[in-house]
Amino acid sequence: MEKYFHFIGGEKQVGKSGRFGDIFNPSQGNVSAQVPLANSDEVNFAVQCAKDAFPAWSSTSVVKRSRVMAKFTQLLYQHHDELAQLVSQEHGKTIEDAKGSVQRGIEVAEFAMGIPHLQKGEFSDNVASGIDIYSMRKPLGVVVGITPFNFPAMIPLWMAAMAVATGNVIILKPSEKTPSCSLRMAELFIEAGGPSGVLNILHGDREAVESLISHPDVKAVSFVGSTAIAKSVYQTSTANGKRCQAMGGAKNHMLVLPDADLDNVANALMGAAYGSAGERCMAISVAVAIGDDVADRLVDKLTPMVKGLKIGTSLQTGLEMGPLVTVEHRQKVINYIDLGVKEGAELVVDGRDFKLKGHEDGFFLGGTLFDRVKVDMKSYQDEIFGPVLQIIRAKDFEEALKIVNDHEYGNGTSIFTQNGATARYFADNVEAGMVGINVPIPVPMAFYSFGGWKASAFGDHNQYGLEGLRFYTKVKTVTTRWPTENLDADFSIPTLK
Ligand code: NAD
Repeated sequence: MEKYFHFIGGEKQVGKSGRFGDIFNPSQGNVSAQVPLANSDEVNFAVQCAKDAFPAWSSTSVVKRSRVMAKFTQLLYQHHDELAQLVSQEHGKTIEDAKGSVQRGIEVAEFAMGIPHLQKGEFSDNVASGIDIYSMRKPLGVVVGITPFNFPAMIPLWMAAMAVATGNVIILKPSEKTPSCSLRMAELFIEAGGPSGVLNILHGDREAVESLISHPDVKAVSFVGSTAIAKSVYQTSTANGKRCQAMGGAKNHMLVLPDADLDNVANALMGAAYGSAGERCMAISVAVAIGDDVADRLVDKLTPMVKGLKIGTSLQTGLEMGPLVTVEHRQKVINYIDLGVKEGAELVVDGRDFKLKGHEDGFFLGGTLFDRVKVDMKSYQDEIFGPVLQIIRAKDFEEALKIVNDHEYGNGTSIFTQNGATARYFADNVEAGMVGINVPIPVPMAFYSFGGWKASAFGDHNQYGLEGLRFYTKVKTVTTRWPTENLDADFSIPTLK
């Protein structure tokens, strides 16, 4: 059985804790490799290696850092298909979807190439007589990135690209279910001329995370994962004096208005609900149909489409859905479908018994569609994170907006309508961090930023874009005077003269 290694200080490091996690091939259902799970001694070693690399990297000229990012971006593009294969093999998402997710990650590295412009400070001359003032954005030091299983290239790049471009050193702890991509990207960073110790990969689970977020030499923690863990990571990190951004789970609603083109809506919902087997924090898992007529027509359109989903092993091309990531996760989704039935939602399409011929041990599920879901159902309130779409019937736009705003989560949301005024009102008043207007999955481009509201994110700054720059830097402001005459003692707070 192949055993993976950590990548610390520019070198492969064999796991020493004696603990390993299984990595699966979800299409076959077998264990494909094992990943070491770091203990606190290994965390200390990784932090020390990163800390040793910080003085040289943080004082490397911003132009040189930009050139490393440019070469890194070029290598990521060159290895795009290889990285997508690693994503698809371990996660189970289709190869086309995996390629898209790698592309969205590379775009953050591409954005970070512009660091000489992005990391400029401000300057004001003559703010008082003979006094100039300027500010700088300085890197923080050793930062930590902790990522979920569902975007093994994209989310590590959200963090690593912005962290290292700004002059930090990072310890990335990828999901123990999908760690290969991060390892490969760290090797590519070295090939791009990135110094050893600047981008480190440490594998692990709760034990490693707890050591990292309480380590005295770690300055900041970026986390993406489920809400309960995001909240606890945020609390522990901040209690230990660290800057922390922690993105959590989601339940994203799409409002379907009576004037929307229902063919477009149905197509958009299919991709947004069932793409990546629903294992996306920006998946649409709830469609709020306004009026019974819209709901009835939508269910009629969706039913044959959900039944006809093209499902297969992830590396096959031309598919719409692959398997789920693990057998445990598959069972969790099945439990939520059972619960929805028990709570009285109308099960229109049941994906629980789906089996892929010749791959009966794979972690497959068919698409599931529920109608007449109610807001007091637990299966609605919780994030399911699987290929399950729930339809809620609302009587009007106001009720639909209230449903979205009352939900605990506020990651993304979307509205399908031809009415610009309603769409504008929705964008203005909906309680969510990312809004799509006739766009089902509004993941912002690398030069904007990603982040939800409410229980979908803890902390102040979003991921990547200028928000990422702010997260990974602290401001220093310098006030200067070069006196040409004697200065008098002044006992009051300085004011403009
Ligand atoms: P998870 O919370 O189980 O794991 C995330 C990370 O936390 C992993 O690296 C894992 O090793 C670590 N971890 C697991 N248990 C821990 C513990 N007890 N203490 C400390 N660390 C622990 O999430 P997941 O199942 O890998 O990913 C799916 C979740 O991530 C979903 O809830 C999804 O909505 C969310 N997600 C959110 C975003 C976003 O930007 N908001 C993006 C992608 C995924």
